[in-house]
Amino acid sequence: MSESDVYCNVCPHRCRLTEGQTGLCHARHNRNGHIEPVSFGTLTAIALDPIEKKPLARFMPGSRILSVGGFGCNMYCRFCQNHDISQTGINGAFRTEIMSPSELCRLAVELSETDRNAGIAYTYNEPLISYEYVRETAKLVKAAGLVNVLVTNGNINMEILDSVLPYIDAMNIDLKVFSDERYRLLGGDFDTVKAFIKTASHVSHVELTTLIVPGLSDSEKDMEKEASWISKIDPEIPLHITRYFPQYKMTEKPTDIELMHRLKTAASACLHHVFLGNV
Ligand code: SF4
Repeated sequence: MSESDVYCNVCPHRCRLTEGQTGLCHARHNRNGHIEPVSFGTLTAIALDPIEKKPLARFMPGSRILSVGGFGCNMYCRFCQNHDISQTGINGAFRTEIMSPSELCRLAVELSETDRNAGIAYTYNEPLISYEYVRETAKLVKAAGLVNVLVTNGNINMEILDSVLPYIDAMNIDLKVFSDERYRLLGGDFDTVKAFIKTASHVSHVELTTLIVPGLSDSEKDMEKEASWISKIDPEIPLHITRYFPQYKMTEKPTDIELMHRLKTAASACLHHVFLGNV
């Protein structure tokens, strides 16, 4: 280890980076002995989406939200639906635009006046690997009277969550699989994600999503355990159970529809709001 090496504290990978080196997520690097985002405000996607698409079923239903994404991710799911932006660095991102927090906030306010925009959703890739941008933008958006929505994998250390949580109104958090070992295969840490969900749900509106991937997260027993765990936090937390389709490096056929319905029945034994997606 050289003297200029620094650890990144944003997620459980805790990358040790030498001067000029970029972390596993492609989005943070060591510059002059400090860990900072590779690019502040680089957007690869921007769209005005229905809020239900996040998915959020029980937060401001019927509204639309300005949704933005950057690049990079601190997990490496073989079935990622946004792999073209999540598994790449700044040079591989196919469409980029730089927007400062104040420019993005201004756009959100304009769209609230003309297109019933509710605020900003930080989504598409993992937003919190560039948490400084999320935090700065979210402060302005909140001050302007709009809402902030975070769509995240939850594989983020607590001090980073604590620093953004006061500005976030709603979140959709992935709970990819209910297993320590299988979370590790995806580059995530199960305990970190569970702690993130618990803390976030005490402060913000939280909904959860589990994508049912064949051979990974399609066990009915695991779904029973997952639903029971969620219900101990709050049985009112909505759970979205979504159907997998072949993506990226995974070619297995789509999840069986009947299994999707059985999983919904299993989860509904403990939870009051269970939704099927992509069926
Ligand atoms: S946020 Fe990126 S650089 Fe930091 S520890 Fe996680 S993967 Fe490594």
